Amino acid sequence: MENYYLYCLVIFIFFYGVSITLTSVFYHRAITHSAIELNPILKSIFLKSSVWLTGIEPKGWACMHRMHHQYSDGPSDPHSPHNNGVFGLFLAQSKKYEEILDQIRSKDPKIMSVIEDLDFPLHPLYQSGSLIWLTPYFSHAALALCFGYFTGFWLMGACYFVGLMSHPVQGWMVNSFGHFSGKRNFDLPDKSTNNFFVMLLCLGEGLQNNHHQYPDAAKFSLKWYEIDMGYSICLVLSWLGLLKFSANSKVP
Ligand SMILES: [Zn+2]
Ligand SMILES: [Zn+2]
Repeated sequence: MENYYLYCLVIFIFFYGVSITLTSVFYHRAITHSAIELNPILKSIFLKSSVWLTGIEPKGWACMHRMHHQYSDGPSDPHSPHNNGVFGLFLAQSKKYEEILDQIRSKDPKIMSVIEDLDFPLHPLYQSGSLIWLTPYFSHAALALCFGYFTGFWLMGACYFVGLMSHPVQGWMVNSFGHFSGKRNFDLPDKSTNNFFVMLLCLGEGLQNNHHQYPDAAKFSLKWYEIDMGYSICLVLSWLGLLKFSANSKVP
């Protein structure tokens, strides 16, 4: 096939884009911070189907992220490069996420107090604590392998799988470099920074210093050279009537 590698790149970027959009706009700005309010039908579709696309459980993700804001870069922060190291954070964040899901299942009072306003249950794949939660990962891997087997375009299948399941790498980039290297607009007690490269690669999520200053804001960019593509997606969805901005989501 002519331009095979170009098509592979386009497929990777498309599915990476689907994954980071769901994480930044839906999991983060909508469910965790309520900076935007999803149309009820869209919210219901998201809660039922997002796990199948991303492999991330919404309640568990929101809980871990709220704890990150509560204890930023302190000893109880579930993921900080100052506790885990920049590279150690990659595994530490997954381990902590598993622990938090266990605590939600056992209704640990301390953990439940963090998410008491989230009026939806754990996704059915996560309720028993069995390995059934791996089903989305295996399903996408199987789809990619079938595609490779029947077409011979193995790399294209791999680009689909790696792009869609890229959330651990996205999380690692934001959680490590967004608290380790970059500029600071605000002298906050945490170590959050605005990292230019992570800002571009993760739809504005690299603007951690701005976000920690205004966690309820839907828009993370404050200066002309800061780019928040996640907010642009929120604007488009709002024009389509699929979400609205919460009253407290404006930067003061
Ligand atoms: Zn942060
Ligand atoms: Zn946040």
